[in-house]
Amino acid sequence: MNTNCINCGAPINRKLNKCPYCGTPYDYSDFNASFENKNPLGTISIAEKEYQVYLGKYDVDTINMGCGRDIDGMLHGDKIVKKRKFTLIEV
Ligand SMILES: [Zn+2]
Repeated sequence: MNTNCINCGAPINRKLNKCPYCGTPYDYSDFNASFENKNPLGTISIAEKEYQVYLGKYDVDTINMGCGRDIDGMLHGDKIVKKRKFTLIEV
C-alpha cells in the first residue's frame, strides 16, 4: 500500500479521498501488476496510470521480532523473520 501520493509524493491523508496538494485521487482499488513468464519487464497500473517496470532490486531482510511470553507465561527466545523487499523501476 502506498503511503505517499504517487504524483507529488505528499504523505497520504487517509481521511481524504484525494491529495490535498495536487488533487490526485487516492483510489488504489485498481492496483494491478503483471509480469509475463521469463520476461523481466512488466506492467504496473495504479490509479488508472500504467507504468512499464522491471525488477531492479531484491532484498531479504531478517528482522528480530524480539522475545516474549505466550499466554501460558512461557518465555520464548528471539523470533527471527525474513521479509523480502522488491523494488520496481520504471523503464
Ligand atoms: Zn499529490
